[in-house]
Amino acid sequence: MLDLASLTELLSQPRKIVITTHHKPDGDAMGSSLGMYNYLIQQGHHAKVIAPTDYPEFLNWMPGNGEVIIFTENPDLSAKLIADAEIIFCLDFNALSRINDMGPLVGESNAYKVMIDHHLEPEDFDDYRHWDINACAAAQLVYTFIADQLQHAELINKDVATCLYTGIMTDSASFRLPNTTSTVHRITAHLIDAGANNSRIHELIYSSSSENRLRFLGHCLANCLEILPEYNTAIMAISKTDIAKFDVNTGDTEGIVNYALSIATVHLAAFIVERNDKVKLSLRSKNEFPANEICKKYFQGGGHRNAAGGQSDESMEATVAKFKSILPEYKTLLLQ
Ligand code: 5GP
Ligand code: MN
Repeated sequence: MLDLASLTELLSQPRKIVITTHHKPDGDAMGSSLGMYNYLIQQGHHAKVIAPTDYPEFLNWMPGNGEVIIFTENPDLSAKLIADAEIIFCLDFNALSRINDMGPLVGESNAYKVMIDHHLEPEDFDDYRHWDINACAAAQLVYTFIADQLQHAELINKDVATCLYTGIMTDSASFRLPNTTSTVHRITAHLIDAGANNSRIHELIYSSSSENRLRFLGHCLANCLEILPEYNTAIMAISKTDIAKFDVNTGDTEGIVNYALSIATVHLAAFIVERNDKVKLSLRSKNEFPANEICKKYFQGGGHRNAAGGQSDESMEATVAKFKSILPEYKTLLLQ
């Protein structure tokens, strides 16, 4: 274990550092990683962000993006950087299975591992932990790590601020979720003062759809949405054929599940999509309903109470049927 004083001492000289995050990175994964990257390079560290897999185009504009290494495209270089690293920052995840084939490499590396995360039930692979499930984003914790723990608020420059703002904005669903506290707004205000252009960032993330994506969204809403009023639940099931027909790319499905949840009477929404050899589920819920429990118990996954994910090795039809068969168990909670 490392305490804060030892970590601060370690970071007082240039180090070989790897920053990584969960597979299929989202806005918080890339925002927290690149925020940390832009902080570290100011101090002369040799830092590299390694993403386990690729990520959507609407995230590829953040400062430092050009330096990101994608593990699946550069496995040898990534393995060497991980093996040589003195410190590995693990951001926005807390179980090595979330970084796919990078998991064993990070696990076996001699580097000090620093976990900065807000997911439930962290695995014990780290040497230093800045973890708080009440944080709205890992980017919020990267902010408090830099500003409060390392006392380097003055190093939160425009690039750092832009990335951290993106992480907080995306993971708090644009400052809407209940964990968007006044503290989050104070942090956000500092990020704007430090140079984050909030309006422009919003546009880059939310107004950068391709025509295909918008037509795909229309198809999902018009043709794939099933409402189960007796369970206050909505399901959107998207077949492999639809994915091919609308030329759906990484990230194009992100957020679509929220449209189903925006129906007043829907308390639980499931987006179920057929990917090559697997069926992936994204669940979203309102209030106290534990979407993560369903993912953990039945779909090899997990996540937050109101936003969770999982997968199934069965067919699309069987997965949808399995999901429906689980609902009676949760009927009382769903009807509350
Ligand atoms: P999404 O629906 O966007 O894929 O995932 C929503 C949230 O659920 C993510 O923030 C992530 O924390 C969590 N999640 C998604 N898939 C998995 C999974 O397979 N395992 C675990 N533990 N969490 C997941
Ligand atoms: Mn996050």
